Amino acid sequence: MTNMLDFSIARRQMVERQIKGRGVSDPLVIKAMQRIPRHLFVEEALQSQAYSDFPLPIGEKQTISQPFMVAFMTQALALKGGERVLEIGTGSGYQAAVLDQIASRVYSVERFASLARRARRILDGIGQNNINIKVTDGTFGWEEEAPFDAIIVTAGAPSIPTRYLDQLVVGGRLVIPVGEFGSQILKRVTRTAAKEYHEENLLDCRFVPLVGKFGWEKE
Ligand code: SAH
Repeated sequence: MTNMLDFSIARRQMVERQIKGRGVSDPLVIKAMQRIPRHLFVEEALQSQAYSDFPLPIGEKQTISQPFMVAFMTQALALKGGERVLEIGTGSGYQAAVLDQIASRVYSVERFASLARRARRILDGIGQNNINIKVTDGTFGWEEEAPFDAIIVTAGAPSIPTRYLDQLVVGGRLVIPVGEFGSQILKRVTRTAAKEYHEENLLDCRFVPLVGKFGWEKE
């Protein structure tokens, strides 16, 4: 039998081994990962694996990212608190919940209505009803709410959609996996001036495809 106590122990171990143990050190990220009940973002049959070191299925052939990847990407956004953040790929809603612990406003876009509905229900269930979710093709960004201090893309793009670059404030950061399926690189792009961007390669990674007008044509 797994109960709430077991989950909180599992969560502590996840943070120690997979997050801190692999070099994520931002206290705001660690605190957020410690707080959010990840098991509530997967179906009941998978809850006992929710704090394990891998992604899990969430329906529509999509996945909730590995805990380390969520922590690493959040740290890469370099949030201090108070920011406006855009997420592309709501999926389970877990990454949005982690961001919401740190930022002041989280906007998240999902292409599957079923996943967006499911995420909304889970987030409302844990009282995180300040996250704005929209169902549409997120390769356009979220023009009406731009600019953002940070943009995080949780699906792999063939190349960096220019709208994301346009929707960043000067000083803002974009974190995005780019490349063919199976050999993607997690990149961070910082808008250093109105027309200047600085690009860094952070990590090899593997994400489901970003499918849309400025992404992949199909899965
Ligand atoms: N951040 C999620 C991980 C989701 S996996 C979590 O914490 O659970 C990536 C998600 O991106 C999938 O749900 C997929 O449907 C979505 N996605 C793919 N292409 C998209 C697009 N063009 N616009 C919006 N969402 C997209």
